Amino acid sequence: MLDQRPTPPADLLIRGAHVLDPRAGLDERLDVRVRGGEIAEIGRDLEAAEAEVVDGEGRHLFPGFVDPHVHLRVPGQEHKEDLESGTRSAAAGGYVAVVAMPNTAPTVDSAPVLGSLREAARREARIPVGFLASVTRGLAGEALTEMAELREAGALGFTDDGKPVHRAGILRKALQYQKLCGGVIALHEEDPTLSGKGVMHEGEVSARLGLAGIPSISESTLIARDASLAGYEDGRIHIQHLSARESVEAVAAAKARGVRISCEASPHHLTLTDEALLETLDTRLKMNPPLRSEDDRQALIDGLRSGVVDCIATDHAPHAREEKEVPFEEAPMGTTGSETAFAAVYTDLVAPGVLPLALVVAKLNAGAALMGLPTPEIRVGRPADLVLVDLAAEWEVGEAGYESRAENCCFAGRRLSGRVLMTVAAGGVAHRKLPVAA
Ligand SMILES: [Zn+2]
Ligand SMILES: [Zn+2]
Repeated sequence: MLDQRPTPPADLLIRGAHVLDPRAGLDERLDVRVRGGEIAEIGRDLEAAEAEVVDGEGRHLFPGFVDPHVHLRVPGQEHKEDLESGTRSAAAGGYVAVVAMPNTAPTVDSAPVLGSLREAARREARIPVGFLASVTRGLAGEALTEMAELREAGALGFTDDGKPVHRAGILRKALQYQKLCGGVIALHEEDPTLSGKGVMHEGEVSARLGLAGIPSISESTLIARDASLAGYEDGRIHIQHLSARESVEAVAAAKARGVRISCEASPHHLTLTDEALLETLDTRLKMNPPLRSEDDRQALIDGLRSGVVDCIATDHAPHAREEKEVPFEEAPMGTTGSETAFAAVYTDLVAPGVLPLALVVAKLNAGAALMGLPTPEIRVGRPADLVLVDLAAEWEVGEAGYESRAENCCFAGRRLSGRVLMTVAAGGVAHRKLPVAA
């Protein structure tokens, strides 16, 4: 159910990298041989044979990351991003698979739209892409899509991302169909009657700036409702871009009573707060859900530690430059995030000792299983899904431009450590910033 353009299978010997894969139980300096796109051998002092040798000395090799939440803007908004640029951007961030949202123009709400999108991905996508279809037709929140037909056409699951499923009865019906056709239902949680015309987090900072706020309860009250619905129908739901302490508590409570619920947090909500807006009303800092308080950020970090927060997802949301070059109140919501996810989390949370590196690596590909995909692991016989990183390498976000077509990155101008040198996705080299060795 993943699509990508054909890529030649790699033959590589990655020599002397610190191989870290918590699931495979690896945390030591090793050589990894990739033959015909598969992990063929893991050991010490392996012979190069015919393979290209990649110098891993002083570098880290992780299982590739999987992003369960990106906006590739295809079909219809290719001025923001397209399948080629979006997957190139993801590969540059160490991703070996991404799941694209259906809030496009037209909406991915029918088998023919999904079919032609998948065909385009088989021509253009640099790494494997999976697609969610919408829960309701045209994201209008009124009528369900043909969920069974969409599943047969290859949808991994369903979401109305960008919007909540506002009517409880509609979501209940979707959960009933899910029993027949499977596929995760991913939810953007926000009560529009509480969010109103808010443009940032409702709190002290919004009061000081005199801007309309989006309260945390806009998110958490809907999570509580939807967790109840999922529990009642024994459905499987995934909560997208958790941003608030109350939301973490709502998910924890649902998990404690056995609801089949998972959730994600984004690098920006894990590393930034609304106080950034006191310095500058930069529209790159405007996203939905908004950057919240330090207390909320701490709750998300605790959630990663405790397991309440299952994975890290970027919600990569590209916009054209002119769309963001407007006053803060008028700017569209969203930040790009594929190229900065690892480095932002590494710099702000791992390097200062807040979270262990192994935990972050695991959370960066835990989204795979939540979307029904295999989790990349560094094991013999598995497809090569690998990312080679130089943790010590510093770079300034945006200094050399972006692989994404868009520039609306909330980390622009920040100095980060942790540079992705090479990404091998589904056995093929998808990104490299390394000189070719002999
Ligand atoms: Zn959303
Ligand atoms: Zn989104």
